[in-house]
Amino acid sequence: MRTQKLNNGLEMPVLGLGVWQSDNGQETVNAIHWAFDAGYRHIDTARIYKNEEAVGKALATATVPRDQVWLTTKIWNDDIRQARTTAALEESLERLQTDYVDLLLLHWPVDGSTRAWQELEQAVAAGKVCSIGLSNFMDDQLQDILNAGNIVPAVNQIEYHPYLVQAEAISACDAHDIAITAWSPLMQGTFLEEPLFAEIAEDYGKTAAQVVLRWCLQNDIIVIPKSVHQKRIIENGDLFDFELTEKDMQRIDQLERGKRLGPDPHDFDF
Ligand code: NAD
Repeated sequence: MRTQKLNNGLEMPVLGLGVWQSDNGQETVNAIHWAFDAGYRHIDTARIYKNEEAVGKALATATVPRDQVWLTTKIWNDDIRQARTTAALEESLERLQTDYVDLLLLHWPVDGSTRAWQELEQAVAAGKVCSIGLSNFMDDQLQDILNAGNIVPAVNQIEYHPYLVQAEAISACDAHDIAITAWSPLMQGTFLEEPLFAEIAEDYGKTAAQVVLRWCLQNDIIVIPKSVHQKRIIENGDLFDFELTEKDMQRIDQLERGKRLGPDPHDFDF
């Protein structure tokens, strides 16, 4: 699996399986095992997805050893607000049946994030987390973390797809060599409504989903598409045998319209 070198020297697989809205049982276990069979080595979960137990079960019963898998989870907003990041991490580790995660993110920029960041730094020192990062932090919110912390975030996971490229947030991250992971890279399935992807896909003998994910990868964005169907999991992982031309990259770039599918990180309430 292709990797991207993070600003702490660790290599993160550029493709992962997202498990938001996957269940806390066999559906998720199967999806993860199919993903491993298809070559994925990266799983993206979170406490709030309420499926860390299933992720843990999938890891414990997989043929791929734990140390060959990149596991990301996230600290939920209530835990950040209540200054219980360290306790929340312990609870996640127990549910995930592991003694470390590869990447731990603050899920949203809520009150208490700078203090939570210091707890993340302590978790690195304690060997419970290899890399720490953010999710949904815009340029000004990132600056607060940089001012408060000693460790520069390794990753910022943000909504990113052809309709929303968040250029300002990305350029702030680039300035500190912070890698970007795209959430909802497949536009939560709505990519199927955009005819350009199918049109381009036909020229390469690939699918519309593969074109969208490949466009992300060629922009140096890590992708974590979600599916619980084996055929789609295989399809979404089969991205490394073709390359979009500069012209096709630009045709997709032109679709940008600042359209969010999720909340605005400057204006949300949960
Ligand atoms: P996504 O953009 O990955 O879209 C997933 C949906 O697209 C599927 O449910 C299915 O309907 C469709 N789909 C998937 N593969 C397909 C294929 N090959 N052909 C046709 N349709 C296909 O959506 P997502 O789940 O929102 O985002 C991916 C992951 O990002 C999540 O699972 C989660 O891990 C992460 N995420 C993080 C945040 C955050 O705040 N950090 C927010 C949302 C999602």
